[in-house]
Amino acid sequence: MRLSIASYGLLLICAGLFIHLELSWLSDHSVEQTEGNPASEQAREYYELYENIWKDLEYFPVPESTEDEKAAVSFENSWMFERTYGGSYGHEGTDLMPSVDKSGYYPVVSMTDGVIENIGWLEKGGWRIGIRSVHDVYFYYAHLSSYAEEFERGDVVEAGQLLGWMGDTGYGKEEGTTGQFPVHLHVGIYVRNEEIPELAVNPYWFLKYLEQYKLKYSFS
Ligand SMILES: [Zn+2]
Repeated sequence: MRLSIASYGLLLICAGLFIHLELSWLSDHSVEQTEGNPASEQAREYYELYENIWKDLEYFPVPESTEDEKAAVSFENSWMFERTYGGSYGHEGTDLMPSVDKSGYYPVVSMTDGVIENIGWLEKGGWRIGIRSVHDVYFYYAHLSSYAEEFERGDVVEAGQLLGWMGDTGYGKEEGTTGQFPVHLHVGIYVRNEEIPELAVNPYWFLKYLEQYKLKYSFS
């Protein structure tokens, strides 16, 4: 009887040792091990910042015309293509090019709900509007011909709300400069967190996704 208790005890010790070894092997080899890795933490942060963009997107910024079938926009992935106004730099955005080269023709709507953070003239961006979305993403619409309303900083806008019209303003210190490039809408997307005050994101794929969510407006 005593012997069998001793064997039982020994068996328990062996089993315990085996489990202990197994667990320590697992903790050495499991994915959890990467938690303390700064690179993977950074990757997760970026993932979360990108996720915020998806959460807020609702509409493509240029609606389709119910009057004119030929009124369309096209765009390519021109991320970081060279731009040379006021020095050489990379293109931080996507340009939506119209089939009708006419300033003030195409409506521009907000892609998201949000609050107007910036409005008015910028040397490069011309008449621009910058909207901070619900999940803290900055959406930048540039080169507008005019605004739909007398917007002010802090005004609340809804996804799909008319912001203004596509134009060719910008590339000039003087307010109202036009004609320095073809009519188009420049779209910029910027994310941020505590460490990164402003990070430009390529809008191309987000716009590709939004192509299935075009509003229809009556314009011709
Ligand atoms: Zn651009």
